[in-house]
Amino acid sequence: MAEKKKSDAKKLQEQLFYKKKNTCEEVSATEIKKCDKFCEGYKTFLDGSKTEREAVINAVELAKKNGFKEYKAGKALKAGDKVYTVNRGKAVILAVIGKEPIENGVKIAAAHIDSPRLDLKQCPVYEDNDIALFKTHYYGGIKKYQWTALPLALHGVIVKSDNTTVNVCVGEDDNDPVFCVTDLLPHLATAQMERKAPQIIRGEELNILIGSRPFKADDISEKVKLNILNILFEKYGITEADFLSAELEAVPAHKARDVGFDRSMIGSYGHDDRVCSYTALMATFDCKAPNKTVVTVLTDKEEIGSDGNTGLNSSYLKYFIYELAKQSKVDGWTVLSKSECLSADVNAAFDPTFPDVNEKNNTAYINKGVCVTKYTGSRGKAGTSDASAEFTGKVRNLLDKNGVIWQTGELGKVDAGGGGTVAMYIANLNVDVIDVGVPVLSMHAPFEVVSKLDVYMAYRAFLVFMEE
Ligand code: MN
Ligand code: MN
Repeated sequence: MAEKKKSDAKKLQEQLFYKKKNTCEEVSATEIKKCDKFCEGYKTFLDGSKTEREAVINAVELAKKNGFKEYKAGKALKAGDKVYTVNRGKAVILAVIGKEPIENGVKIAAAHIDSPRLDLKQCPVYEDNDIALFKTHYYGGIKKYQWTALPLALHGVIVKSDNTTVNVCVGEDDNDPVFCVTDLLPHLATAQMERKAPQIIRGEELNILIGSRPFKADDISEKVKLNILNILFEKYGITEADFLSAELEAVPAHKARDVGFDRSMIGSYGHDDRVCSYTALMATFDCKAPNKTVVTVLTDKEEIGSDGNTGLNSSYLKYFIYELAKQSKVDGWTVLSKSECLSADVNAAFDPTFPDVNEKNNTAYINKGVCVTKYTGSRGKAGTSDASAEFTGKVRNLLDKNGVIWQTGELGKVDAGGGGTVAMYIANLNVDVIDVGVPVLSMHAPFEVVSKLDVYMAYRAFLVFMEE
């Protein structure tokens, strides 16, 4: 009797308890193969899209291959049409026109394509003790000490005095030189190691090494700087003043690599948030004849708070949806009020080496599926959009119904810190929004890690949302 009772209790427990699924156990070998193949495409996208501008170029190229045409204001659109529009080279919106009238609302997926990095200052070049360096200003939330003694590549644009633009990409080809921020040897770091962690490397110590050989001349000083500027003049036709109107970003030079003997993970710079950008993009390409119009936005400036005209705190997404609405002679706000959005962004994965920052019942784990986050923010849920129970329920049931393995997770323990996403800016347009994305280890580090199965589940989550 005792045994039977135990078995009933076990059944009851199975019925009543919530247990996270483990993707590795739930997914068939065939699906794992599909997932691994999908991730090969993702790795290629990662390596070619280290900046927001490059991500836009690659997203547009892929979109064109998938039948998307550049959006022309005023040109009539019909169900099944696929269009894209680029905002200032740093953000892109893609749309697949749905069968239902637009007044029923649109389905938005929003991910960001900017990542933490070191930007060059406007007057970056200097020489100190016969060494030439660049001054930088870091972009986004970084642990500054992680960015030293690491090969860096330089990407970006320089607008010259004649208004022409030069594209720069140095350090990605195996034959290219790379750059780096130097750090102090441990032997002489006694005083440095007494500094608090944010100061171990200070902002003004993130100086990038760019040269050390002098220009051959007797009558001048700063010969190393001159030699570097001469090389740049010969290669790009630029002078020092042209840095004033440049956007140059130093990013890790390494490529995306499989991680682990089992190759189950990918390590790379910039998973946050190319991992959600790529998966949302692929879902946009693969959604067939959607009922509602699908609008996917890959945005800039998320890492610095979404302000600026290429960030989602500006109106460019709203204006695009208003234009679509105008075509159907519907008010834009009518469309937005009925719209739904998956704010596609990463969340922190539980790290067994640092278990203290997470509360185990409400944290995301790698290999337990795409993470659905009801709210982010910090302290008492400040700076977030807390998704409603109704919309959370809808997304939950949609994912379950379609066999998409998902989990929930908060960004760390209460009061451990916090962060935000674009969710609140879209919610402020009167849209139902929830955060959905991939758990990441070492988030914002030069080498972040994700699980391939979680990447694939993110793609599937976006696809079922778009095709609903
Ligand atoms: Mn992010
Ligand atoms: Mn981030």
